[in-house]
Amino acid sequence: MSAELLNGSRLAQRVRSRIRRSVKDLKFTPGLAVVQVGDDPASTLYIKHKQRDCEKVHFHSEVHRLPADISQETLIVHIEALNGRVDIHGILVQMPLPAHIEKEAVIDTIMPEKDADGLNPVNLGNLLINREGVTPCTPTGIIRLIELSGKKIEGKHAVCVGRSPLVGKPVGLMLLNRNATVTYCHSRTADLPAATERADILVVAIGKTEFITAEMVKPGAIVIDVGINHVNGRAIGDVQFAAVKEVAGFITPVPGGVGPMTRAMLLENTLKLAIGD
Ligand code: NDP
Repeated sequence: MSAELLNGSRLAQRVRSRIRRSVKDLKFTPGLAVVQVGDDPASTLYIKHKQRDCEKVHFHSEVHRLPADISQETLIVHIEALNGRVDIHGILVQMPLPAHIEKEAVIDTIMPEKDADGLNPVNLGNLLINREGVTPCTPTGIIRLIELSGKKIEGKHAVCVGRSPLVGKPVGLMLLNRNATVTYCHSRTADLPAATERADILVVAIGKTEFITAEMVKPGAIVIDVGINHVNGRAIGDVQFAAVKEVAGFITPVPGGVGPMTRAMLLENTLKLAIGD
């Protein structure tokens, strides 16, 4: 039997409708500031999507485009100015940054109370001690997609393939906080299939086109494909979708799975920060 599709686009639409309703009841407009350093075309496109999302939920959004050769000090001063603005509730710095800028120093500068991406060490630290506040967008979206399956997370064996601070590591912590038993896999894992085939919940975030085959998946598993690999102008996931969907119980498509939920969670984080929740 074919797996049930976990439709991220549809779920994201529902999230946005809920946010729009919440914004109507507010006496102010939530504001998101996006900082772009340089003019990487992919970043420009992602930012355009974020702005469009903000419009849909009636947030104020502004983009601060700074030159690629800006010094780290000047960039930090710019972010500090945004930290001080009362009309800006969420700040995010679009990655990647030019090589001469230390990413961590920039993320550290964003006040935890305005950290729309949930990547400031304070917010990640709170996640570590199971005091989830603002959590990173992609992992939060993944949890919502797993919940959409209607299956309980508690007691399940979750396997995260990939351990980046952006996706793999925090999603593993979020699953652990929800009482899953979590295994992390990465490029040095000795026998990857032995781990993945025991997963009730399999989260794959490695950036390798169709790396996960049907043989690596436990029948009935929930498979979350985070990967976005650009092949001949198309976005392809880290999972062999056609084959794996014949084995899995639930699966996210690429595109239309994790991607739209990542964007929706950015809006949710901004609202959370705006209302001080
Ligand atoms: P990173 O490159 O930061 O991390 C990749 C991880 O995969 C690393 O932990 C690496 O291991 C691991 N890995 C690489 N090769 C293998 C392998 N052969 N076997 C097992 N593990 C491996 O990537 P990100 O986490 O930032 O992103 C992962 C993917 O998700 C990308 O395709 C990215 O485009 C996509 N993405 C999608 C988002 C969305 O909204 N849909 C959001 C963010 C990312 P090690 O640590 O040992 O090097």
